[in-house]
Amino acid sequence: MASNASSSQQTSLASSIILDHTSQSTQQYSQQNSQLSSQQNINSRYNNPDFQLKDNDIYIFENSLFTRILQPIDHTKERELLIQCITCSYKKIEKVAGFQSLNYVAHYKRKHPNIAHNKELEKIKQLK
Ligand SMILES: [Zn+2]
Repeated sequence: MASNASSSQQTSLASSIILDHTSQSTQQYSQQNSQLSSQQNINSRYNNPDFQLKDNDIYIFENSLFTRILQPIDHTKERELLIQCITCSYKKIEKVAGFQSLNYVAHYKRKHPNIAHNKELEKIKQLK
């Protein structure tokens, strides 16, 4: 009985060593990988010539409170987007990947409080 217990302990020790080794080599691999991709072309789906912006039901874009202009494809960097406020001269270049509309909704809230920047406000303003 005693010898059985000690052998299973050895087995679990050995497997934990193997696990550690695997995670280390995976880390090394992903580091090499990211170094490679920064030197090569960025293979982003946004750099595809067929890529088009969708309105995604975002009120401020559906109602043209901002214009969005896709920037020319540059394979050495992430695809960018020029965003311009139609009410004032505010404009900004954003990366298409991970773009957040919240900052632009906040812009209307702060700078143009009389213009509805979502559906709820639109209803309230129409009632007045
Ligand atoms: Zn503005």
